[in-house]
Amino acid sequence: MPYRYEAPVSQTLFDRASLVTPGGVNSPVRAFRAVGGTPRFMVSGTGPYLTDADGREYVDLVCSWGPMILGHSHPEVVAAVQEAVARGTSFGTPGEGEVALAEEIVARVEPVEQVRLVSSGTEATMSAIRLARGFTGRAKVVKFAGCYHGHVDALLAAAGSGVATFGLPDTPGVTGAQAGDTIVLPYNDLEAVREAFAAQPGEIACVITEASPGNMGVVPPLDGFNAGLKEICAANGALYISDEVMTGFRTSKAGWFGVDGVRPDLMTFGKVMGGGFPAAAFGGRADVMAHLAPAGPVYQAGTLSGNPIATAAGLAQLRLLDDAAYAKVDAVSAEIRGMVGEALTKEGVAHVVQAASNMFSVFFTDRPVRNYEDAKQQEAFRFTAFFHSLLSQGVYLPPSAFESWFVSTAHDTQAVERIAAALPAAARAASEATA
Ligand code: PLP
Repeated sequence: MPYRYEAPVSQTLFDRASLVTPGGVNSPVRAFRAVGGTPRFMVSGTGPYLTDADGREYVDLVCSWGPMILGHSHPEVVAAVQEAVARGTSFGTPGEGEVALAEEIVARVEPVEQVRLVSSGTEATMSAIRLARGFTGRAKVVKFAGCYHGHVDALLAAAGSGVATFGLPDTPGVTGAQAGDTIVLPYNDLEAVREAFAAQPGEIACVITEASPGNMGVVPPLDGFNAGLKEICAANGALYISDEVMTGFRTSKAGWFGVDGVRPDLMTFGKVMGGGFPAAAFGGRADVMAHLAPAGPVYQAGTLSGNPIATAAGLAQLRLLDDAAYAKVDAVSAEIRGMVGEALTKEGVAHVVQAASNMFSVFFTDRPVRNYEDAKQQEAFRFTAFFHSLLSQGVYLPPSAFESWFVSTAHDTQAVERIAAALPAAARAASEATA
């Protein structure tokens, strides 16, 4: 078997897991199906490093798929969690932590006048869509191919992330009725959006887009794309929903809104705002949010929404994320991007490194990637070789060519040097790979 390096303890755990859990994992992208080999079972994380069950240490370029922007086990986040846990783990009543986290979000992201806390990004987008439909009284939703908004039935059509990684055309279990009101358009194509609105006047409730997509690899919006979406929505009485689950509080203090300044009607958040715990949110215009129960008729609820441990972790993390922290993450991202590009160029490997602030990914192609069709043209087999070479040298990348890489404030010189030392062999492996 190729790529079966020495990970005997992970292998044993994976065998056990596979008996009791479908595919041995609790979220498909954690499996190594796209790249082959044994998923590493991690036992601890400190700063920029993860340690697996076999005792091997990795520089982590996944950061739990985005949330760990301060690195693992940040002492102040851990202390906030310990303090919260000691006071009780869930009350099923309102608590001050939820208010403080909501205030922090509202203070950072100007278009968010009111916010509702939930437990996952999926819940956030699902609820935002329901609210948009309830508010407008319309059924149809526009989404873009390659964008992933969680495993919401209506949004799984032509989705990114694991759906892209595994090349799934559609998901069995999503009925025609659930997907029938979803209009899937090519990303970065405003003309297609105009045509969809013209063809279905008065029927489209909202356009949902990743603020800057990271789930087909990193494919930033072209200049004017988000502004164009906003304009078309406003002209047609539809809501513009910016999904910032990945970019929120990561790409700047105010997420991607802080980068492009386009004002959405509704926004969704997750990942960074939970500090490594299950916390997410959706929010936006107060007149729209007023339609949400119990203020209004659109129902939405959650037993663990605003959980005190999750809100304490999220708040502690956000409070540490000042301008200096973002400058640090941006700088280390730029440094690693430069190193990766240089190593691949040296070996003559066709590639483009694409970035959205500190989020970035590498496509094994010689052309800029503007949408999902472009992303699929890359030579993903080169990624597989690149990934496994880095893994065997102690650098942990997302196990898919269709995912963003993430760094943290904890990625210091030593961590960067480890990556630098591993890159020449990885670039050579990519260059020698065959389909
Ligand atoms: N939206 C975006 C942009 C995401 O990247 C993700 C997850 O990766 C989600 C929504 C779903 O979030 P969760 O996995 O917390 O349900």
